[in-house]
Amino acid sequence: MVDEIPLSRPDITDLEVEAVTSALRSGRLSIGPMSETLETLVASRTDRRFGVSCSSGTAALHMALIAMGVGPGDEVITTPFSFVASANAALYVGATPVFVDLCPKSLNMEPELVKGAITRRTRAIIAVEAFGNPQYMHEYRAIADRHDLAMLEDSCEGLGGRLGATPIGKFGHAGVFGFYPNKQITTGEGGMVVTDDERLAEVCRSLRNQGRPARTMGGASGSWLVHERMGFNYRLSEIQAALGVAQMKRLDSLILARQATAQKYVERLLDHEHLILPTVSPEVFMSWFVFVVRLSDRFTSEERDRMIDGMRRHDVGAAPYFPCIHLQPYFRERFGYREGAFPIAERVSGRTIALPFFSGLSDRDADFVVQTLDLMIARESIRRT
Ligand SMILES: *Cc1c(COP(=O)(O)O)cnc(C)c1O
Repeated sequence: MVDEIPLSRPDITDLEVEAVTSALRSGRLSIGPMSETLETLVASRTDRRFGVSCSSGTAALHMALIAMGVGPGDEVITTPFSFVASANAALYVGATPVFVDLCPKSLNMEPELVKGAITRRTRAIIAVEAFGNPQYMHEYRAIADRHDLAMLEDSCEGLGGRLGATPIGKFGHAGVFGFYPNKQITTGEGGMVVTDDERLAEVCRSLRNQGRPARTMGGASGSWLVHERMGFNYRLSEIQAALGVAQMKRLDSLILARQATAQKYVERLLDHEHLILPTVSPEVFMSWFVFVVRLSDRFTSEERDRMIDGMRRHDVGAAPYFPCIHLQPYFRERFGYREGAFPIAERVSGRTIALPFFSGLSDRDADFVVQTLDLMIARESIRRT
């Protein structure tokens, strides 16, 4: 029998173990050189002047929206098809998320619908690269600039990817990354804001550190007990940053390994009669966050859910990435959303299956995943007849 094939698995080598060990031995466990090195590495990789590390991608979204001046009464246009953090960020600052439906190929917001959703209260667009696909990022930026809106790029799923020559993280007024263990690089937990706007970076530096002046250092320095604004403890530890630095040094090889895994699935699933594979336009360089297939419209979301349960019973990781945000219980309750509000997002989201995805997935495991998926599809087809 095969062992369990997890949905995701971090790629940790001796390099990471040694980096974390030396951070522990350094005596400096927070606010130190490792987080600055990580900031420099991620900023330069995304062609940005500034990087501000923090405790999670969610914290990065929150800080960036505050620094952009988004607050109570404002509307923020965003996608219903994402991890919930992208819309929650608007709620944290007292703004209202305004969802728009998707382009069914890229699974990103349909640009025409973004334009149509702008009102006098619109203050910002949170543009998410769904599964790391940067399609339409230039269009969203052009819309934001024309209407004097802030564009926050939630690039948490796309580190290392590009659209033409432009790296993911470079499209908005700020971009944010998350370093949870399933992302392209991990720090265990962690995140970063990247931007070319010095003021925005300084405000985020202050926000992550209890509202202290941006340049304060630890210990005895006079500004440590000065709090210029209401801030948070969103700092990244040196231990986490050291892990991130080691991962960033390996980013190119991590991406190559993720591309190789994606290729294994593409080879095995191309021309599958019941599946729609991820659509990636030729000018996109994907760093591959996850590998999500979609069942054709002849299957229902209940059938999809049973397939996922069945795969899990066969020790194959699988997940319905992502349930629509507007249909989450508290969004329904608070904003009155019902099924049918965003038909394309709902049609897609009810039929997705994320497959086990990580660097080093073996051919044998890829075969087993695909056989198991085929078995589940066959079972559901038989159930009907
Ligand atoms: C991972 C992710 C985040 C941030 O997640 P954290 O767990 O807070 O680091 C935000 N938005 C999207 C779209 C994500 O995929």
